[in-house]
Amino acid sequence: MPQPPKSNRELIWTVDRNFQGWTCSQCEWNSPLPTLLNDPEAKTAFDRLAAAKFRDHKCADHLSRLAPAPADSFTARIKNMVAHGFKPKDAVELFLQEAALEFRNQPQMLAQAKSEAEDFLRRLRAGLI
Ligand SMILES: [Zn+2]
Repeated sequence: MPQPPKSNRELIWTVDRNFQGWTCSQCEWNSPLPTLLNDPEAKTAFDRLAAAKFRDHKCADHLSRLAPAPADSFTARIKNMVAHGFKPKDAVELFLQEAALEFRNQPQMLAQAKSEAEDFLRRLRAGLI
């Protein structure tokens, strides 16, 4: 598989144990979500700011990304379904049904899945994705 050109960098929503926020697909640039940011409008403002900072950053000024962003994040799963032709709302609904089965004994993961799905729809409505 040929490597995509460097200009194909992507703004990626990343959630793991130590980090929650936006990252660049090509370098270590990131914009962590401030803790205690729960208000949807404040989150959208944060997303817009992160998108603007992302456009302005130069990958060359940051370390190269060593590991690719995890492809199995919840947001990536929803995006993947949309890429395969699902309407975003249907993709989110289907994803939540899958998550409810997958994490029926893991309430924390289920809550995380729901919150990422809500964020996905909120960003879509705000025209951010
Ligand atoms: Zn970058």
